[in-house]
Amino acid sequence: MRRKLVVGNWKMNGSRAANAELLAGLNAAGPWTADVAVCAPFPYLGDVALSLQGGRIGWGAQDCSAHESGAFTGEVSAAMLAEFGCRFVIVGHSERRALHGESDQLVADKAKAALAHKLTPIVCVGETLAEREAGETDHVVKRQLSAVIHTLGHCVPQIVVAYEPVWAIGTGKTATPEQAQAVHALLRAQLHAATTKSDEMLILYGGSMKPDNAAQLLGQADIDGGLIGGASLKAADFAAICKAA
Ligand code: 13P
Repeated sequence: MRRKLVVGNWKMNGSRAANAELLAGLNAAGPWTADVAVCAPFPYLGDVALSLQGGRIGWGAQDCSAHESGAFTGEVSAAMLAEFGCRFVIVGHSERRALHGESDQLVADKAKAALAHKLTPIVCVGETLAEREAGETDHVVKRQLSAVIHTLGHCVPQIVVAYEPVWAIGTGKTATPEQAQAVHALLRAQLHAATTKSDEMLILYGGSMKPDNAAQLLGQADIDGGLIGGASLKAADFAAICKAA
């Protein structure tokens, strides 16, 4: 039996004041049966750590460098994130793949860097609308996950996978539970071919998950939680999704 995980991805939103209010609301709303975490912008990680330390809500970042240290202006290393108590780091979000040209191999290298510092990488995969309409969904998500599997080898069981169809992100257009489950089952089968621990691994769904559609999505056999964008910015909405899990 896999324990569900709900992770908020704040993206480039928030302020110190707004975050304090949101986290106070979440601290007051829990605990939940599911594991819960929030992934905040880098400058807020210190504040988030202070607000959440000693509680049951974990935290993490939204990206990390594939490098250890050195002349990489603007980048943040996994070691730095670990120093701020991060448990998770999102890698390969579609916004980074699309807007920053991140390749499958770079995403895999970032996951490896995260694991080297005992962070759990949440590896995002997902197809665009054009790819879905061209019947390429399976091929695209398998290619994205395959790079990670090959790079991590026996460490594969230590990652969390997130299926985020690009056409469902921030659009209010959610994948149907059946559409999402089909891809999750495919990803599980791919993990199964790579490790004996695939049944223990978490595959999250992300893309317009809201309080009113969360229970149905989270009720699917291979959907082990959610990666929540917009709805993670309001304590009541995020808490409702955590409760549904
Ligand atoms: P939305 O929940 O806003 O669609 O964003 C999903 C997402 O990209 C989480 O990483």
